[in-house]
This record gives sequence, structure tokens and C-alpha cells, in this order.
Amino acid sequence: MNKIVYVDMDNVLVNFQSGLDKISNELRMKYINDPDEIPGVFSLMDPIEDAISSYQFLAKHFDTYILSTSPWENPTALNDKLDWVKKYLGKVAYKRLILSHHKHLNKGDYLIDDRPNHNGVDRFEGKLIHFTSDLYPNWKTVIDYFSKYVKY
Ligand SMILES: [Mg+2]
Repeated sequence: MNKIVYVDMDNVLVNFQSGLDKISNELRMKYINDPDEIPGVFSLMDPIEDAISSYQFLAKHFDTYILSTSPWENPTALNDKLDWVKKYLGKVAYKRLILSHHKHLNKGDYLIDDRPNHNGVDRFEGKLIHFTSDLYPNWKTVIDYFSKYVKY
């Protein structure tokens, strides 16, 4: 059976800082303690290096879904995240976007996430691929790991 792989968005597929960089100083200061609540900020973010081709690789070889959390107090985040997935991933992620504050409720084999202690990641039943850790600092190292399961 095909392995189920979940992929986080912020700082895994999406470069959060690249969105902040496009926000005015005034707005950035207003939300200095809660930058993820800036209206529209999620629509401005660029992909992380190699994220798009890596997601396409995973989607081709595994049962792959996006598993992200949408900030509760940001009224545009839900829509911005959906639009981002449509814009950058399109067909390979069609109807495969899950937004949840309880990631452990999703059954699966792997979760690629940069925050091991947030939104249920610590209770996920499968294996955590800790993105940005020493073991998996970038997408190249993640794809190297998953490539061992792929028969070419
Ligand atoms: Mg993240």
C-alpha cells in the first residue's frame, strides 16, 4: 500500500519571511507580536527553495497531502492558503489541503514539519521528518530520504 505523507506549509513549502518582507513597516509594527495575523500576508509568500519540485516528487510516488494550520485570528489566512496551493501546486495538490490545529488526528506514515511541538505534531502516530533540523535542513535531504522507497 502506498505510504501516506503529510507536508506542512509555513517554513516547509512556504517561505514565511518572504511575505513579511513585502509588508509595510507600519503594518509590520502593528502586528509585531503576531505577524501571522497580518491580513493578506499568506498571499505574498514565495515557495521555499526546491519545495515545489519536491512536493511534485512526493505526490508522484506517495499518497501526499498538505497539512497546515491556519491562524485562528487571521480572517484571510484560510483563503490565502488555498489560493497559494492552487497557484504553486495546482493539480498535484487538488483537494489535498488539510487545515487543522490537531495534526495528530490525521492517520499516516510521515509528517514533514518544522515545528515538532505545535498543533499536535508531537502526538502524530507516524514518523516526523523534522524540517530545518540538522538531519533534514532542506528539501534535498528530505528527498534523499524518501528516494530509498522509490523504485525507478
Ligand atoms: Mg511550519
